Amino acid sequence: MKIMANRMDRGFFRYQKEFEEKALEVLRSGWYVLGNEVKSFEEEFAAYTGGGHCVGLASGLDALWIAFRLLGIGPGDEVIVQGNTYIASVMGITINGATPVFVEPNEYYNIDVSKIEEKITERTKAVLVVHLYGQASNMAAVKALTDKYHLKLVEDCAQSHGACFDGQMTGTFGDVGCFSFYPSKNIGAFGDGGGVVVKDAGLAEDFRVFRNYGSEKRYYNKVVGANSRLDELQAGLLRVRLRHVEECEEERCQIADRYLQEIRNPRLMLPGVQEGATAVWHQFVVRCEKRDELKQYLEEKGIGTIIHYPIPPHLSEAYQYLGYREGAFPITEQYAREVLSLPMYNGMTEEEQEYVIEALNAF
Ligand SMILES: *Cc1c(COP(=O)(O)O)cnc(C)c1O
Repeated sequence: MKIMANRMDRGFFRYQKEFEEKALEVLRSGWYVLGNEVKSFEEEFAAYTGGGHCVGLASGLDALWIAFRLLGIGPGDEVIVQGNTYIASVMGITINGATPVFVEPNEYYNIDVSKIEEKITERTKAVLVVHLYGQASNMAAVKALTDKYHLKLVEDCAQSHGACFDGQMTGTFGDVGCFSFYPSKNIGAFGDGGGVVVKDAGLAEDFRVFRNYGSEKRYYNKVVGANSRLDELQAGLLRVRLRHVEECEEERCQIADRYLQEIRNPRLMLPGVQEGATAVWHQFVVRCEKRDELKQYLEEKGIGTIIHYPIPPHLSEAYQYLGYREGAFPITEQYAREVLSLPMYNGMTEEEQEYVIEALNAF
């Protein structure tokens, strides 16, 4: 059997008719940027999260950097973020000239909140929480700190659409919730896409102006903005995704439950879920001291896996200028050496799940 780490085609074919109808509808409408599909998607996504206002943007990275820009965070400012994140989280900070201050993760791969306070200085302006792999961070604890120190709170929800802490959806706790709709994400477009969820109507309006060259009224430019618009076609297709989001979440949880119950191998460390949090299993990540050997072994059995992520941002070439050496963040670095994401996708068959489980148990 051949099993890929992800199968985005399965998610398409399941709702093929609806996607194709919507695509044709948009193509035939003669209107392709900033129209009714974007407007409707924004309303529907805001309602889904329960977070106030949604503004569609061109990508998750845009959501992050524009969020920090509009919150007034730039050169000389520090933003606290976990060390073991996808590099886009960090770029959202540094594109604005601000400095990322890394904190080690906890056993759930999210920021270790007990290590935030020691990193706060006069320069700290914000905390960026990443709900990594689809599990919500402990937002009660984070919020207590950002309130105490009057810091901005931004959430990177690129992997956590639908995940909750204490029953509240990620992306609605802080000043801005940043989402990606990249095709492989839990709510994925068929190209690039992103968006933000914000409570403050004024801030939502700032995003709307900024994404369209800083223009509120055609050819009247208030600020120097960007071109970061979610297009009509992607917005329309995302509306189809949203109609089915609950059943897709449910399916991922079932696959994760099965993995959790049936993978029995003392050499593997299975993921846990923190009390108060839910996980939507963007990735199902195991840890293994012999990770590279495990990856190779699975490959020989026809099972594809991915490492999220092999090089932590502080050690990447792009961030050499920050001056970190190996050993600066031992837990982050250990995770980079040991994590492996198993196949996890909507439309994964029971036979495929069984095959993966058997291979893992025989390792
Ligand atoms: C995918 C991702 C992003 C970036 O989203 P894009 O739409 O690819 O720009 C940011 N943060 C995390 C954690 C991600 O997984």
